[in-house]
Amino acid sequence: MKVLVLGAGLLGVTSAYFLRQQGHEVTVIDRQASAAAETSFANGGQISVSHAEPWANPGAPLKVLKWLGKEEAPLLFRVRADMHQWLWGLQFLRECTPARTRWNIAQIVRLGTYSRDTLQALRAATGLHYDQRTQGILHFYTSAKEFEGAEAPAAQMRALGCDRRVISADEAVRIEPALAHIRPRLAGATYTAEDESGDANQFARELVSRCEADGVRFLMSHTVTALREAGGTVDHVEATDTDGRFQRIRADAYVLAMGSLSPLYAKPLGIELPIYPAKGYSVTMAVRDESKAHQVSLTDDEYKLVFSRLGNRLRIAGTAELNGYDRDLNRVRCEAIVKRAEELFLGAGDAENAQFWTGLRPATPSNVPIIGRSKLPNLYLNTGHGTLGWTHACGSGKSIAYIVSGKKPEVDFAFTGIA
Ligand SMILES: Cc1cc2nc3c(=O)[nH]c(=O)nc-3n(C[C@H](O)[C@H](O)[C@H](O)COP(=O)(O)OP(=O)(O)OC[C@H]3O[C@@H](n4cnc5c(N)ncnc54)[C@H](O)[C@@H]3O)c2cc1C
Repeated sequence: MKVLVLGAGLLGVTSAYFLRQQGHEVTVIDRQASAAAETSFANGGQISVSHAEPWANPGAPLKVLKWLGKEEAPLLFRVRADMHQWLWGLQFLRECTPARTRWNIAQIVRLGTYSRDTLQALRAATGLHYDQRTQGILHFYTSAKEFEGAEAPAAQMRALGCDRRVISADEAVRIEPALAHIRPRLAGATYTAEDESGDANQFARELVSRCEADGVRFLMSHTVTALREAGGTVDHVEATDTDGRFQRIRADAYVLAMGSLSPLYAKPLGIELPIYPAKGYSVTMAVRDESKAHQVSLTDDEYKLVFSRLGNRLRIAGTAELNGYDRDLNRVRCEAIVKRAEELFLGAGDAENAQFWTGLRPATPSNVPIIGRSKLPNLYLNTGHGTLGWTHACGSGKSIAYIVSGKKPEVDFAFTGIA
C-alpha cells in the first residue's frame, strides 16, 4: 500500500520506519528542510514512563488559577480571545476528576512502557546512537509535602508495571552524586531505573537515514496546504514544493502527524482534534566542569524542569504556556531556568553561552495522545503527544503501522476508531 505520512517530527519519522517494516511504500512530507526541526528539535530528552501524571488532575484547577499571570509559572494559561483555547480549557477541567486522572495515567503508562520496550528493540536492531543513557530517571523533591504526595502516584505506577521507587535523599545522592551540593534541601526522591534519556533530534535524523536506505521517500521543504476529500475519503494532499508550486500527492492511506498543527488541517474535514499548542523552553549548555555535572536524567519537582545529559551537553527543559502558536522567547523564563540550573549544579555548565529554544507541545486536555483511525477510512492519526512525544514515539509509530496494516496493535491502549 502507498502511505503518505504528513510531518517528519518524532511521530512522523517513527511511523514511517514501522510502516516500511510492514512492507508499505512510504513517503513523508514536511515543510522543514530537515526532519525533527520543530517540536522534536531540542526537548528534555527523557524517555520517562515514570512521568505519567497528566497536567489535568484533581489538584490542577487551583494551581492553574494561582499561576495565572505569573511569568515564571510552570503551567501558564494566557487567556486569549480564542474559542479553540477556551474549549480546550473546558475539556481540560473535565479531565481533572479522580476517575479521569486514573484512567489517563493508565493509558499513558501502558503506552509508555510499550514504547520504551519498542525503542530498546529498535536500538538493538539498528545500532542507532543518539547520546542515549540508560541510567534511569531520578525525580527529586525539595518540599516535604510534595514528596509525601509522590507516594500515591508512584504506587499507582508500580501497580501498572512501571517500577518507580520512593527513595531517601541519601540514596538519591548515591545515584546522582552531583546532587550532593543540595543534599540539605532534598526531602527525598523517586527513581525509575528502567527509564532512559537521549537526544530526540539526533535519533530522528539517524532514523531518517535508515528509512531512506530502506526506500522511504522524504519530501522535505514541502508545505501541506490542505487535505482534500472526495466521496468520504481523502482524495489527495495539496502541498507546495520547494519552488512554491502546488502539487497533488496521492496515496492509499494518510497518517496525520503534524504535531500542534494537526487540528488546523483536520478541521476542514470535519474532524475536531482537541490539541492546543503548549509552549515549552529548553536550555542547552556545554559541560564546563565534569565534577559538578549530572550524569543521570533528573526531574526537579519544585520547578517542573527536566535535566538530561546529552554527551558533553546539559539539556534543561520545562514550563508550559498556553498562548497560541507564537514561539517567542520570554527572557524571564529563560533566565529562571538558567538560574535554577546554577543553583543546583553551580559551575557545571557554560551558562554564559547557553542556547535557548522554544517548542510547541501538541497538548491534549488529558495528555493522552490521539492514535488510530479517523472517521475517514483512509486517514489515520498519530498526534497530540504533548509532554511525552519522545517517550511515546516508538510505541505510537509501531501501533499506527499495525493499524494501517489492518493488524491489532500490541499494546492495550485507547486507540481511536478501534473497538
Ligand atoms: C520544552 C519541551 C520539552 C520536552 N521534553 C520532553 C521529554 O523530555 N520527553 C518526552 O517524551 N517528550 C518531551 N517533549 C515533547 C515532545 O518533544 C513532543 O511531544 C514531540 O516532539 C512531538 O512530536 P510530533 O512529531 O508530534 O511534532 P513535531 O515534532 O512538531 O512534528 C510535526 C512536523 O510537522 C511538520 N508540519 C507542520 N505543519 C506542516 C505543514 N503545513 N506542511 C508540512 N509539514 C508540516 C513540522 O515541520 C514538523 O516537522 C518536550 C517538548 C517540549 C516543547
